Amino acid sequence: MKYVYGPVPSRRLNFSLGVDLVPYKNCTLDCIYCQIGRTTHKSVERKSFAPIENVIKEIKKSISEVHAINFITFSGSGEPTLNSDIGTIINEVKKMTSIPVAVLTNGTLLFREDVQKDLLKADVVLPSLDAASQRIFRSINRPHGSLKIEAVIGGLKQFRKIYNGQIWLEIMLLRGLNNNNGELHKLKKAVSAIKPDKIHLNTSSRPPSEIFAIPLDLFELTTIKNFLNNNCEVIADFHKKRPGRIKDVDNFIIEMTKRRPITSLDIANILGISEANAEKILAKLEAVRKIKETHYENKKYYSIMMEKQQNALETINESEKN
Ligand code: SF4
Repeated sequence: MKYVYGPVPSRRLNFSLGVDLVPYKNCTLDCIYCQIGRTTHKSVERKSFAPIENVIKEIKKSISEVHAINFITFSGSGEPTLNSDIGTIINEVKKMTSIPVAVLTNGTLLFREDVQKDLLKADVVLPSLDAASQRIFRSINRPHGSLKIEAVIGGLKQFRKIYNGQIWLEIMLLRGLNNNNGELHKLKKAVSAIKPDKIHLNTSSRPPSEIFAIPLDLFELTTIKNFLNNNCEVIADFHKKRPGRIKDVDNFIIEMTKRRPITSLDIANILGISEANAEKILAKLEAVRKIKETHYENKKYYSIMMEKQQNALETINESEKN
């Protein structure tokens, strides 16, 4: 499968079949907390990145083989609305199944009418908004030069007016950046104008792209939750066990690590096995250099080993032998 992965456990969408519509890593932003690394192609240009029929074929195959999927989610290795075919693909999925469709987006292109129109048939749109001032937008999200936070907020407000589905807005809170009174008051004003159905507060709880993306603690998040409003919740780590079998476990894990760093507990929960057994599978993949270990906030994570890193290790080993 090239475009479809999972289902993977998600804090907000339960078991979600992922559809990855843009190649690594095309995004309009380069967030300092990004879990999949720095943006290599920062752009606001929408393109047709994948043959529509191939994506549809993979989704069809997956939903016929895998049961207990709670959402079909457009997300993955970058910003999915950069794919100009997303509207057509969502419409095709809606004809094919009653499984709800979700779109995880950074929301930066929602000021465009074509993007708003493309997402109208989705059941849930999950945009993010981490700043309400251009300075903090630049510091946290490192946007494409053409993007202005007023236009992003305006786009979200506009979309709310024409969209009948659910909007679950995520705010990533980071120490020393958007957790100060001034920015929080501005965010509160923006959020009450956008009127999302839910507000999800998050912090950098997995290895971020930059070490200076520093998380808040639960007490701080709860204080901000109380300040923002009642629709607001702090989203915590997901620990649900999933019954069922996954045929190619190695490949499943490799595909997951491409999209976010994972722990042995994540794998144990998804596969319904003990954490010790999950550790063994991960160690085997690490030994053949498919994945690599990283440490963050006293926790061990595994992420994809990029081809360049594999080659560098080969070179070091070769020179040690000689
Ligand atoms: S967190 Fe999302 S929006 Fe930000 S750089 Fe990563 S993929 Fe792009």
